[in-house]
Amino acid sequence: MALLGKWIWRLGTDKGGLWKEILVSKYGGWRSLREEGKVGRGSLWWKDLKEVWASEGWGRSFEDGFEWEVGEGRAILFREDNWLSCGALKSVFPRIFSLSVTKGAKVAELGNWFDGVWVRKDRVGEVSPVYSKLWRCKVLPSALVTAWRVMENKIATRVNLERRGVVVENLVCGLCGKVEESSCHLFSVCEFTWRVWCLCFEWLGVSFVIHKDPLVNFQQFRLCSASDVVNDVWGAIWVGVVSGIWRHRNSVTFDRGVVDALEVFALVHVNVWSWIFAKSCCNSFTYPNWVLNPVDCMRLVV
Ligand SMILES: [Zn+2]
Repeated sequence: MALLGKWIWRLGTDKGGLWKEILVSKYGGWRSLREEGKVGRGSLWWKDLKEVWASEGWGRSFEDGFEWEVGEGRAILFREDNWLSCGALKSVFPRIFSLSVTKGAKVAELGNWFDGVWVRKDRVGEVSPVYSKLWRCKVLPSALVTAWRVMENKIATRVNLERRGVVVENLVCGLCGKVEESSCHLFSVCEFTWRVWCLCFEWLGVSFVIHKDPLVNFQQFRLCSASDVVNDVWGAIWVGVVSGIWRHRNSVTFDRGVVDALEVFALVHVNVWSWIFAKSCCNSFTYPNWVLNPVDCMRLVV
């Protein structure tokens, strides 16, 4: 039995090999061991492997003993395999699984990894161009993730927390104290946020209309006639504003910080300049240059 167990282990861990390809092709490979039912015309050896798996505790021991190495996600089933610490998504969300039209899809077929963050592909199977633009921005990964969460409406605003079933005593915005704290409100139309955006527009020498949907707002926050490199800096400024607002909101909400639009604006100056400096190795302008004339400085970024 131990020898048969070793074959099961090799079936789950070996990277390749003709013998494994044949088994996967003929019987479905390692996953089919846990499927109940008769093997039919399977070989005696395969029937023995299935018996070992079904023996009391053996199959469970194998499943618990394995840790999935996702890699590019080309070998792991997104919903059926236990590649997350919470268990197979099929079991955790049975209702969603029953409605899913992507049963049997691999992790790589449904999304891509960007800087350690897995991002879902859109319905035509490609990463949305708007997110491609976001990932190109040379910013701190934590700020990038915050911006992505805002665009996906996954950020933990009070309205989103309540939607997830968290008991929230007060839904009112932590910055203006007047309107429910949704993503659209907090990052686009809150009167505090509006002051921060206006300071940025004045600094950049542009007039701009803010769309209430942060994702559309990001798409529109660029210069049509400028190069991709310059627009990547604009994207970094957008990320700087959004992540700065979120940080300020948390400071006011949890650390009794004082609401101050100028403080957020000053942080945008510092953060974006330091990101450009660190990620582009750009030393052709100084911080005072950047504060006084950002548009000219952007043209020096390579
Ligand atoms: Zn507000």
